[in-house]
Formats: sequence, structure tokens, C-alpha cells
Amino acid sequence: MIEFRGVNKHYGKFQVLTQIDLTIEAGEVVVVIGPSGSGKSTLLRCINRLETITDGQLIVNGTQLHDKHADVNKLRRHIGMVFQHFNLYPHMTVIDNITLAPIKVAGVSKQEALQTAMHYLDKVGIPEKANSFPSQLSGGQQQRVAIARGLAMKPQIMLFDEPTSALDPEMIGEVLDVMKSLVHEGMTMVVVTHEMGFAREVADRVVFMDQGQILEEAPPDAFFSNPQEERAQLFLSRLL
Ligand code: ADP
Ligand code: MG
Repeated sequence: MIEFRGVNKHYGKFQVLTQIDLTIEAGEVVVVIGPSGSGKSTLLRCINRLETITDGQLIVNGTQLHDKHADVNKLRRHIGMVFQHFNLYPHMTVIDNITLAPIKVAGVSKQEALQTAMHYLDKVGIPEKANSFPSQLSGGQQQRVAIARGLAMKPQIMLFDEPTSALDPEMIGEVLDVMKSLVHEGMTMVVVTHEMGFAREVADRVVFMDQGQILEEAPPDAFFSNPQEERAQLFLSRLL
């Protein structure tokens, strides 16, 4: 579903990603961890072409992203992204936030979009908030709306960039629970997170990044009990 082959990315002279090789199969859940500034967000943003790669090959869902003529709109239609700061439209109700892209981008009828939106709002547990504005919701509820919004496009891949980092501790669980339900439905997911419990419980693989490189890639059991790289050991020891 996602394949990085020797991918490099520069911001001017600064190399933010170095020789990234990473293959993610359909239905896999990969958790990306690493220190701040290590390139995790950039890696994620390359997958839906919010960032372009400098060289190497990146193939996502059959689209060659290193090809300048890649159909980016088509690519993005099948990829949902959830950010740390929710990024809901503040002037729109919950239901309008969720139906906007299906109607405007995917060309779904209003009636069908509403039905789909309610289905996913139900799934994330807050159907009663359909007509509320984002500012009337808690952080955890806003993030669940953001997830429902991503799902409403019926994506094949969901990307999460620190989805619980801006939440009060008591709201982290409700968002992780929604994410776990997606895992159990077989969604392909790439998740940047500091929630190691989530990684241990549901990740197929953990990818550890530092200074723009993937230093280690292993199943969570192996990674957490016996990290091979010194920088991974140090990173984990600081989390405890
Ligand atoms: P992480 O998500 O792991 O914290 P990022 O991918 O956000 O890391 O950033 C990696 C590095 O790239 C950081 O040093 C950051 O300052 C730099 N960076 C990120 N975005 C840009 C940009 N648009 N222009 C220049 N440098 C950037
Ligand atoms: Mg980041």
C-alpha cells in the first residue's frame, strides 16, 4: 500500500529525511516514534503529498508520488489524515465539517453524505453532536469528529500525526479507543504517537526515527523489550 525506496527530502540545504526505506502492506498498522524534530511529521506528510520528496521513489496505493504528473487529488481522496490540533472548520457545524469533502471533492449527493456522516459520527460515539460547533465540544470530542471526517471519505489509508498530544489526559483513552476499533476493522494506518501502550497493543510494527533516518523497525514486543539501537534505548528510557 505504501512503499518508500531510498527516499530523501531536503528543506533547502537541510536534509529532513535520509534514505528512507519502508514498506507498509494493506491492513498493517505502523506506529512511528522518535524524538521531536526527527522527521516523523514530514514522513507522514509525504504519504499524501502534503510534502514532495526530493529523490527516491514513493508509491502509495498504486500512485507513483515521485512522478510530477501524479494525480494528487485522486491520491488524497483515499487517504484520511488526523492532526494533533484537529483542524476542524470552526464556523461550520460538526455535520457540515464531515460532509464538506464528500460533497465538494467526491461529488457525493447531500443526502448520501449526511447518511454517511451520521454513520461515522455514531461510530465515534457522538451522534448527538451533529449540529454543534467545534468550540462547543471537548478536545476529545473534536478529535473524534476529525476522525469521522477522515473516515467519511472511505479512505484506504488513515494517517495520524500525534492525535492525542493536544488532549487532556482523561480524553486520550476515548480517541485511542476509536483508533483501536479502526485497527480491528483492518484499516491501513500509520500513526505517529507517544502512546506506547497503543503501540504495544495494536501495532504490527514500530518504526523508530532519529535525525531523519529510520534507525530501527521491529514488532512492538521485540522493540520495547529489546531495542537494538542505542538511540532507541535512550529514547525509551526517557519515556519512563
Ligand atoms: P517531527 O514530526 O519528528 O517532530 P518534523 O518532520 O516536523 O519532525 O520536522 C523535522 C525537521 O524538519 C525539524 O528539524 C524541523 O524544524 C524541520 N522542518 C519541518 N518543516 C519544515 C519546513 N517547512 N521548512 C524547513 N524545515 C522544516
Ligand atoms: Mg511532528
